[in-house]
Amino acid sequence: MNDWIVGIDLGTTNSEVAAFAEGQVRVLGPGDNRILPSVVGFSASGELLVGEAARNQQALYPERTIRSIKRKMGSTDAVEVGGRYFQPQEVSALILRELAEWARAATGVRPGKAVITVPAYFSDAQRSATREAGALAGLEVVRILNEPTAASLAYGFGDGAKHTALVYDLGGGTFDVSVVTVEGEVTEVLASHGNNHLGGDDFDDLLASWLAGKFEKLHGFDPRKDNPRAAARLWWAAEEAKKKLSSEPYVQVREEALLVDNGKPLNLRVEISRDEYEEMIRPLVHSTLDSVSKALQDANLRPQDMDAILLVGGSTRTPLVSNLLRERTGLEPRQDVHPDLCVALGAGVLASRLSGQAVERVLVDVSPYSFGVSYLGERGGYPYSHCYKPIIPRNTPLPLTRSERFYTSHPDQEIVEVEVFQGEDEDSLRNILVGDFRVEGLTLTGNEPNEILCRMRLDLDGILEVTAVEKVSGKSKRITIANAMHTKTPEEIEAGRRRLQALFQDREGAYEEGAFEEIAEVRDPAIIEVQPDPETTIPAGPYADVEPLLERSRAAIANMHPDDREEAIDLHEKIANARDSRNEKDLLDSMKALKELLFFVEGNR
Ligand code: AMP
Repeated sequence: MNDWIVGIDLGTTNSEVAAFAEGQVRVLGPGDNRILPSVVGFSASGELLVGEAARNQQALYPERTIRSIKRKMGSTDAVEVGGRYFQPQEVSALILRELAEWARAATGVRPGKAVITVPAYFSDAQRSATREAGALAGLEVVRILNEPTAASLAYGFGDGAKHTALVYDLGGGTFDVSVVTVEGEVTEVLASHGNNHLGGDDFDDLLASWLAGKFEKLHGFDPRKDNPRAAARLWWAAEEAKKKLSSEPYVQVREEALLVDNGKPLNLRVEISRDEYEEMIRPLVHSTLDSVSKALQDANLRPQDMDAILLVGGSTRTPLVSNLLRERTGLEPRQDVHPDLCVALGAGVLASRLSGQAVERVLVDVSPYSFGVSYLGERGGYPYSHCYKPIIPRNTPLPLTRSERFYTSHPDQEIVEVEVFQGEDEDSLRNILVGDFRVEGLTLTGNEPNEILCRMRLDLDGILEVTAVEKVSGKSKRITIANAMHTKTPEEIEAGRRRLQALFQDREGAYEEGAFEEIAEVRDPAIIEVQPDPETTIPAGPYADVEPLLERSRAAIANMHPDDREEAIDLHEKIANARDSRNEKDLLDSMKALKELLFFVEGNR
């Protein structure tokens, strides 16, 4: 048997395999795929399906699909899938075999041994069933590792010093919170609580019911009733919307022809905001906080005794989770290791060490600072125009996209200045300005404030894209900041300080140490491009004038002389083509020609 050891997170919803490859611990998989849904099934023709393909058929053909087998591990009851019977460990073995295949596909070598993680509360019978699943998949299980311990290894807590952490793990179908200590080779789970039937799937259910309610209001009946296909579509739509709401303040759900009634398609088109969604799931998140308090009590520790709160599991990407945890414990939860890969990476750390590699922790790329914008808010009870709103928080894994919404301060405001800062201070002026731009020609919105979405995307190369989108019109403007993560070196700061000191030296009392440092650290914005966002944009300038001009021309066309009409139609086409291909010169020329034609036609009426 091959001696190569991999680390495996055999999860209720998803599973991953990690190992030491190309100089560091990585999660392995074919192409960009790293997450294997823990679902097994058979197609209509009897072909075995593992992972994504099985998950895709699960809602439509539940009798041929098996999910969440982890819940049955340790039981001797067989499970039926498509008329065949399996022991739970046999189903898990199919998942493990697929993961071993993923590791082989990524590296060319099939692993022979594995570290497999299990929940801290797993009994001996459940642990033995997991070992057996490994053996059935052709893997010698060299260690069974508790999931919260794996998470703390991923964070580097196995460095020899003593660490105590609260590991909060909210996955698709389960929730666990554990207090763990790690000191060298000795790891201990001091307390563990949770709910075996709570997770992101429940969030999806709530959102799917909300969507069904919206449909029912429009069309008079629940689309899920007697229609598994519509129910499945709604559930997928709910999960997609939920994930988007982790980074966007609202999403549009569009399900065209969700059902067809007497040949007539019935659509669902609805917008949901993060606030509305958070109200739905708040009671569920609160119930997890009660488990956090119980786990701390059982361990006889207080939040301040923790070195860290570590967020694990895909559902901890929901911002409400970290916000409520921060409120409840006063600690900043950490999620700098990808929450859905963290346990696998921790298993990978142990697997690498057992293979003789001196690995201390996993390397992940995180944003070393927060990035945000300034806004007009309140400080100390007074309006203040340099309040700071971080949009990309410090220590989040990259690449990352996040949005926040802002409102114009008065309804007849036509311009917004977007100032982008790097830093943590709630006063923007104490942070570092990295770029700014202006959005002009905003729509006048009557008595309503105008909503502007600010979206930031930071990639692994430190390129920060900032887009401002006017919600009502879709108009947007974007800048790209080339080296957003660059900070000045101490030498650069010292050189700046000396330069400024020379400027100030003649002015008595003008130099103040604190103020000086701030000036010295502000660096030049490094904007390399300003460009329209092709997806959402009708930017200001000629593009914004196209529709009103075409509208005017369409209204006039009926009364035109046939020759003029033909010319107008010709010009409409040229304008549309120039707009779509973004040929600004052609666009301006054709618009000018159409305006002249209209001037002539309208004047002759
Ligand atoms: P896990 O069991 O850790 O793989 O977590 C799976 C759960 O995480 C599923 O319910 C997913 O829908 C959920 N999930 C994945 N990505 C996100 C996201 N960006 N925001 C909220 N939930 C997510």
